[in-house]
Amino acid sequence: MGRNCNCLPELGDHIFCKRKGGLYYHHGIYVGDNMVIHLAGKAKKLQPPNSCQECKNKGVTNGEMAKICLDCFLRGENFFVYEYGVSYFKHKTREMGTCSFFAARPPHEVVGTAAHFLERDGFGGYDLFANNCEDFAVYCKTGLSGSHQVMGRIKRLGLLFPFGLVVAIPTALGYSIAKFITDIRRSHSPS
Ligand SMILES: [Zn+2]
Repeated sequence: MGRNCNCLPELGDHIFCKRKGGLYYHHGIYVGDNMVIHLAGKAKKLQPPNSCQECKNKGVTNGEMAKICLDCFLRGENFFVYEYGVSYFKHKTREMGTCSFFAARPPHEVVGTAAHFLERDGFGGYDLFANNCEDFAVYCKTGLSGSHQVMGRIKRLGLLFPFGLVVAIPTALGYSIAKFITDIRRSHSPS
């Protein structure tokens, strides 16, 4: 697990925190000035905007994309920093969805990409098996997509229920193919 402290994230950090007591993690990009850009998801469209003063002054909502303050993002939880460029061995020993082999791009590029998605075209529909909040953050950091959180869940499902593998393998395969297609599509769009 990445850094966990009371200090502020650094510009362009991919941060994540617990949701629903650790049932899953929510991810976003720290863009400075105490603000986070994240893929909020469909459910958020129906909710009223955050009533906090900071979000009122500096917040932006565009479809499923939103810029909110760090406190509203964390909802009382601590943040962790997703690590990039970790070794194969370290990656294998860590919980999936907390680090990546791939090197991170420079902070200004990460923030620029997140802002681009917020201001222009969004990140497609929020979907656990397609574009999720982790995908968005990983994509901003690396220019690559692929959610380890979802793949980790499929792996755990397979361990818990041997028969689950029958479902998990085609699902993972379908997921990879869908990813491949969206990667190709995205590589043609400006970032
Ligand atoms: Zn706020």
